[in-house]
Amino acid sequence: GALLAQMLVDPIATILRWYDELQVAHVSMARLVGIREIEPAAGDHDIRPDGRDVRAEEVRFGYQEGVDVLHQVTLDVAPGTRLALVGPSGAGKSTLGRLLAGIYAPRSGRVALGDAELSRMTAERVRQHVALVNQEHHVFVGTLRDNLLLARAGAGDAELWAALAAVDAAGWARALPEELDARVGSGGIVLTPAQAQQIALARLVLADPHTLVLDEATSLLDPRAARDLERSLSRVLDGRTVVAIAHRLHTAHDADVIAVVEEGRISELGSHDELVAVDGAYAALWRSWHG
Ligand code: ADP
Ligand code: MG
Repeated sequence: GALLAQMLVDPIATILRWYDELQVAHVSMARLVGIREIEPAAGDHDIRPDGRDVRAEEVRFGYQEGVDVLHQVTLDVAPGTRLALVGPSGAGKSTLGRLLAGIYAPRSGRVALGDAELSRMTAERVRQHVALVNQEHHVFVGTLRDNLLLARAGAGDAELWAALAAVDAAGWARALPEELDARVGSGGIVLTPAQAQQIALARLVLADPHTLVLDEATSLLDPRAARDLERSLSRVLDGRTVVAIAHRLHTAHDADVIAVVEEGRISELGSHDELVAVDGAYAALWRSWHG
């Protein structure tokens, strides 16, 4: 009660006091609030991409001060390419995916579209071009329409229905009591995990980014739902650049290029056949998946 009252009266003083206490506890504020440690320099904020190739150049990144998760990662994803990231758990695949999608900025080095650095664009600008697809945060509290308009404000109902149809979700959406006005998320209609994923995919159709970073589902879904979703997903991926964090053999096998991530570094890069011939980490992983 007293704390809330004080925050209302003097929020800044309260935060500063907390900060003091955090300092005393040797907890860095940056660690708690700021992953995006590199703030865009004034004046060059919201530059535009000048190409469609996603380029990581000597990217170094970590979540905690003094601990790097990615070390000097360099990677160039040409437009239309399918790249699979494979490697042991904890190697940094998801982290690299988040950096390629502009969710975090590198500590040093750069991630760019063409020559334009993502960290010098607004988040909104980045999302027009590159989107991250994972299993988190698919449905927000609000109506189904609200959930879709997040991807393209101002879209008309016809566009929203077309996006739902493109991911095979129009059928169940039409059956909701209030269709687009149905309230979803906690307190509203409970959607299945597959339906929630379809909403995320419909948002992608609306946002229409040329590049997708796909942190592959490690199947919360029953086999039939997984198969249906896969079909919708492959339609959404069609014609786009895809960086897929692969947990399954066929995602890697079908990719144009495979990058093996080990301990925050890219240790092997090449096609499936090339890497099998090299007989290194990928070949070992492939054999283990195969068996
Ligand atoms: P992978 O996807 O290859 O399994 P991750 O990128 O998830 O690897 O993790 C790489 C390292 O970064 C691991 O040591 C992991 O514990 C750490 N890590 C991942 N996400 C976070 C986070 N949000 N906060 C702090 N550490 C993280
Ligand atoms: Mg991961």
